[in-house]
Amino acid sequence: MSQKTSQETLYEKDEQYMWHHLKPYQKDQNPMVIDSAKGAWITDIEGNSYLDGMSGLWCVNAGYGREEMVEAASEQLQQMPFHPLSNSHIPGIQLAEKLNQWLRDDYRIFFSNSGSEANETAFKIARQYHHQNGEPQRYKFISRYRAYHGNTLGALAATGQAQRKFRYEPLAPGFIHVHAPDEYHLPSGQSFEAWSLECARMMEDTIKWERPETVAAVIMEPIITGGGVLIPHPSYVKEVEKICKKYGLLLINDEVICGFGRTGENFGYQNYGIEPDIVTMAKGITSGYLPLAATAVKQELYEPFKGEEESDHFRQVNTFGGNPAACKLAIKNMEIMEEENLVARSKALGKKIMEDIQPLEDHPNVGNIRQMGLLFGIELVANKETKEPISNEAIGNMIAECKSRGLIVGKNADTVAGHSNTLTLAPPLSITDEDAEMIVRTLKEVFHE
Ligand code: PMP
Repeated sequence: MSQKTSQETLYEKDEQYMWHHLKPYQKDQNPMVIDSAKGAWITDIEGNSYLDGMSGLWCVNAGYGREEMVEAASEQLQQMPFHPLSNSHIPGIQLAEKLNQWLRDDYRIFFSNSGSEANETAFKIARQYHHQNGEPQRYKFISRYRAYHGNTLGALAATGQAQRKFRYEPLAPGFIHVHAPDEYHLPSGQSFEAWSLECARMMEDTIKWERPETVAAVIMEPIITGGGVLIPHPSYVKEVEKICKKYGLLLINDEVICGFGRTGENFGYQNYGIEPDIVTMAKGITSGYLPLAATAVKQELYEPFKGEEESDHFRQVNTFGGNPAACKLAIKNMEIMEEENLVARSKALGKKIMEDIQPLEDHPNVGNIRQMGLLFGIELVANKETKEPISNEAIGNMIAECKSRGLIVGKNADTVAGHSNTLTLAPPLSITDEDAEMIVRTLKEVFHE
């Protein structure tokens, strides 16, 4: 009887015991069990290496194998591995200060563990803020179709992707969706700017129909990422900020993907010169090395929480939120990004890669390529005239072709609405010039086939 290899055993146990995230149940013909990683590259248990063009799940911004980050966390684990943030600890204080430097404004920081929790925290703070500010009826949130804000029942309610909600409803009430402008799918004869302003106007209308005094906040990613990398016209973002101010709504910016240099600025909203009331972040805060998330709240919003009543404070505990080792690691992650100028590199290298792949727009199946920093969306169409999206099977084949050449790319989640099918690319900000060339070369090869 032939002896099973240790790899075969692992695949079998994976098949038997693991409940994979977001994957349909069918025996995986090409299971991938990752064993090690360095720089922008990941290696599986069979020794195959891939350039991780998705930074894991849009998070390994500083790249893999950063020993200084591991040491920082390890030292902290030895010194003091856990204490709840009802008290405080040094790495938490230091990270909160550092985040303020990156935010370039004065925010108070509530730590949690994931992007979903950071958004849930933002919703609760927004509602309680209004409550204690004499407007207890403000409970609704405006969010946008196609955006993803998390997997918990509130964050999923904010999410604008129907296929992720189906069979889990009813979700938290009070979330109202509006259209986000999409540069590639414009009503005929409209310019992108005019349509963007029209979308903002429709958002304002929605707020008015809902009665502004019942609406707590707008939540938006500066750039819708998982929903297809939709880069907004600058005037839209400014207009949304203006509408929030006009009706007394808070503006929550979900920076879970856009933060930490992904778009060529510290945070995505900084590309647009707005000042969000609340900023949520996760993923790139530790480059994915440990779970950590934060909800940054403008200092002035904290005022009502200083009340004398027992119920005036924010009554939320999060056991693992702001784990000291995760905070220490996050500080080192941000220091590395500063030392290596990774945010500026994201801007410059993103532009260079875009110049190199832009000619692919001549390909009959490439509708539109969108880029900001090291964040790319390549929208694929079956027909350039009608902009009908390429089939799921065809995009699956393209992803497989990239993988067979050693490049991992992703795709947007908006397949049920049939709106678009977009290849996504978000490599570590630390990629070398050779890595960048490999990405360009591979995409060209795959499209030319
Ligand atoms: N917001 C955005 C924009 C995200 O992309 C994600 C995760 N992909 C989340 C929130 C939720 O983050 P998590 O998976 O850490 O809960």
